Amino acid sequence: MWKKIYKMIKKYDTIVISRHIGVDPDAMGSQLGLKLAIELTFPEKKVYAIGNGSCKFGYLGKLDKLDETVDFSNSLLIVLDTPDKKRIDGAVPADFKESIKIDHHPFVEEICTLELIDDKASSTCQLIIDFIYATKLKANKEVMEKLFVGLVSDTNRFIFNSSNQLFLTVGKIVKDYNLNVEKLYQNLYMRSMNEVRLQGYISQNMLITDNGVGYVILTNDIITKFKADAASAGNMVNNFNYIDEILVWAMISEDKKNDIVKINIRSRGPVINTVAEKYNGGGHKMASGARVTTMEEAKLLINDLDRVCKRYIEEEDISESN
Ligand code: AMP
Repeated sequence: MWKKIYKMIKKYDTIVISRHIGVDPDAMGSQLGLKLAIELTFPEKKVYAIGNGSCKFGYLGKLDKLDETVDFSNSLLIVLDTPDKKRIDGAVPADFKESIKIDHHPFVEEICTLELIDDKASSTCQLIIDFIYATKLKANKEVMEKLFVGLVSDTNRFIFNSSNQLFLTVGKIVKDYNLNVEKLYQNLYMRSMNEVRLQGYISQNMLITDNGVGYVILTNDIITKFKADAASAGNMVNNFNYIDEILVWAMISEDKKNDIVKINIRSRGPVINTVAEKYNGGGHKMASGARVTTMEEAKLLINDLDRVCKRYIEEEDISESN
């Protein structure tokens, strides 16, 4: 499959690389890493990495704006890290001559001419690393730095995925490209004191349901008080793993600018993406997100998560007593 994808890339003079809305380091790292790898391999091609950025991930590089000179009907679209049409940021596959999807989310729908989906992969960045090693696609230290950062971020520093194969891949790129892991971690994990204080607020105010769902409501007033925005507040969900009393946890953030309530959800056992899907969301079994319009709907989602946790605890009890 990688060879087929390589051939398709080789065929086109203009390539647009897109990914999901609500950018994160895996989406942006895979996008900018792949763009640079294609440019190194085929310097004559025009490659655009598009979508709304975030200054928080500015260290990964710059995104491009599409101008009127780009003729979509003669170009290739590559959609990264996105399982469905509605979450693609800034592109419509049908506008392009051909399209490729490379993703590690569970399958939702077919949107591209050629699709490579591996929901066992830790991250889309890991898939791009595999792509580079499997074909003649060139890479350098800068390419691998972007891919490393996305991979580390999506695995939450190897918590969500810690397979033997993943460590072998990471060991290989660190060695082959002489990566300075300490420096890359600084970019990824440096935070402001305001963020740390907001994290303190979350710890103090987290509510826990009967069956172990930890959640906190971050109103626009709270988010503004800590000089954060809804996206970075929601991202704090990654800092609450391994709490004894909590199986599933969620940040409910009011996004006043977009008039929505965003919910970031994580689990260390029960499957949560099926619940997220009921509330205009989706994602992975243990890391999902949803969007609703009212706090009442968000509370219904929490009730559903509580039910999923209850079932999980009962099933665990049965399997332990056998
Ligand atoms: P996040 O909490 O934003 O890091 O998202 C965790 C996972 O859930 C990622 O794989 C996202 O792509 C996915 N996700 C987040 N929000 C949504 C949504 N509204 N719809 C579908 N998938 C989502």
